[in-house]
Amino acid sequence: MKKLLILGGGTAGWMAANMMNHYLGRNKEDIANSKAWEITVVESPQIGIIGVGEGSTPQLKKFFDLLDITESQWMPACSATFKNGISFIDWSEHTQTNRYFHPFPSPFDRQTAAAFLYHCQMRSRGMDVPVNPDDFFLSAHLAKFKLSPKPLPGKPQVPLNYAYHFDSAKLGAFLCQHAVSNGVRHISSTMESVLQHPDSGIQAIQLASGEQLNADLFIDATGFNSLLLQGVLQEPFETFASNLFNNSAVAIPSNRQDIIAAETKATALSAGWAWQIPLTNRTGNGYVYSDQYLSPEQAEKELRDHIGADMSKDSGAEQKPAKHLKMKVGQVQRHWHKNVVAVGLSQGFIEPLEATALHLVQETVLKLASSLLDPMYTSEPDRIKLAFNESIRKRFNGVRDYIVCHYKMNTRTGSQYWIDNRENNNISTQLADVIDTWRAKKDIASVLEKHTMTQYYPVISWYCLLAGYGSFASASSANKLPSSNMRQLTQYLMRSTTHFASHNASLGLI
Ligand SMILES: Cc1cc2nc3c(=O)[nH]c(=O)nc-3n(C[C@H](O)[C@H](O)[C@H](O)COP(=O)(O)OP(=O)(O)OC[C@H]3O[C@@H](n4cnc5c(N)ncnc54)[C@H](O)[C@@H]3O)c2cc1C
Repeated sequence: MKKLLILGGGTAGWMAANMMNHYLGRNKEDIANSKAWEITVVESPQIGIIGVGEGSTPQLKKFFDLLDITESQWMPACSATFKNGISFIDWSEHTQTNRYFHPFPSPFDRQTAAAFLYHCQMRSRGMDVPVNPDDFFLSAHLAKFKLSPKPLPGKPQVPLNYAYHFDSAKLGAFLCQHAVSNGVRHISSTMESVLQHPDSGIQAIQLASGEQLNADLFIDATGFNSLLLQGVLQEPFETFASNLFNNSAVAIPSNRQDIIAAETKATALSAGWAWQIPLTNRTGNGYVYSDQYLSPEQAEKELRDHIGADMSKDSGAEQKPAKHLKMKVGQVQRHWHKNVVAVGLSQGFIEPLEATALHLVQETVLKLASSLLDPMYTSEPDRIKLAFNESIRKRFNGVRDYIVCHYKMNTRTGSQYWIDNRENNNISTQLADVIDTWRAKKDIASVLEKHTMTQYYPVISWYCLLAGYGSFASASSANKLPSSNMRQLTQYLMRSTTHFASHNASLGLI
């Protein structure tokens, strides 16, 4: 039986263990035993997990569905809440509301999304029409009224796209338990050294406990340290620092909200942005910033002031210590080299504005499992690895471009950080093409398709971003469209919200 060793028991390590066990594990009845893999996770009791990263994309639902784990099983265990999308607050100064909502579009939105796109076209021709995504998407309305994306019993069961917030330490523990109960071996010990093959791949790892573990394939899930891929195999790391300036973060929890929001808030501050992630046991807050513009002490003070101003009563944050972090933003050149595949922070990281890190873990592990199951893998492993690396690199670049676009389009004037971001021309040629096309008032959909960028974010998300920032030429109020259609659309969305449960009720909190 082949052996897979996963080094690291953070969220990435345990997600990988569960998914690999699902596709290749020895308990899988439909896989002949000789083809199954024995899976071991080694996690250091001394070196902790990073302990931040508590928002997801809708992809996480597919992860739990794959493993047959229901929301009622995992959500209460992980203090999890529902996420309808992300509110971007204060990223542009000249829009009417200074905020917009990035929804997770669903089939339900087909009609209203078409109206939104039509309005964007009209607005780019100078018509004075609403173009804020908040007015067009059901999930924006659900978030506004603190409703869950789950329809009430007896109401039409319209499936909406939604994501989650969760306590990352609890999620790791939950996934560990699930993997172990399905046959994954768990060893608590620190890796001290590595034995290499003559071909310089990895043969075995030596643990502090004295045990030596050999394996056919190693997954490096050791976080930013990337002990195996970047450490032992010396795989180069390509930084995204010239595209994305943020390299630091500070996190401070506060009390649980009485009525729990069903959205992440991303508020622009002087040299970055602050997240607010509501859980059932506390609220996660953090400030992602660039240390070229702000010291950790200044960032902590600004975050504390922001939390204080945002919460109407005692936030509980005053007594909580701050956790300061450094972020290594970029990706490795090859995510799979020799017999090591990096997963999670060890393969790379794009700052958490759209909460994409676990999404990238999931995509990486999915692609790895399908590569190993590919009948061509035995005869042409190098070709399969090449295709794997190409696909994961493109995915990282695709996500990066969408995040960079937020910074490029900002219209804040109060600090050099925002001006420098706006004036930064270190962006990919693909992103430059999208922005130029938008500014030329042409159709960005075909450009996004041409560059295969819709594989990572759909056209509608790009429109929400660009329109949400209000980046249109000024409109003439003489060119107003009749408002009756807009009234009808709002009434339709408001009626639809009555089909959904309050967020607190759907979390069993009332
Ligand atoms: C500020 C910030 C905000 C973030 N927000 C989000 C978000 O909203 N959404 C999202 O999806 N992601 C987010 N992330 C990313 C997210 O935190 C990580 O992707 C996720 O936690 C997975 O981390 P990991 O498992 O790769 O690494 P870690 O959590 O660092 O785990 C590393 C593991 O390796 C083990 N290890 C290390 N060295 C050894 C050794 N020598 N021997 C044995 N074991 C060892 C450790 O014990 C640990 O178990 C955020 C990250 C940051 C920095």
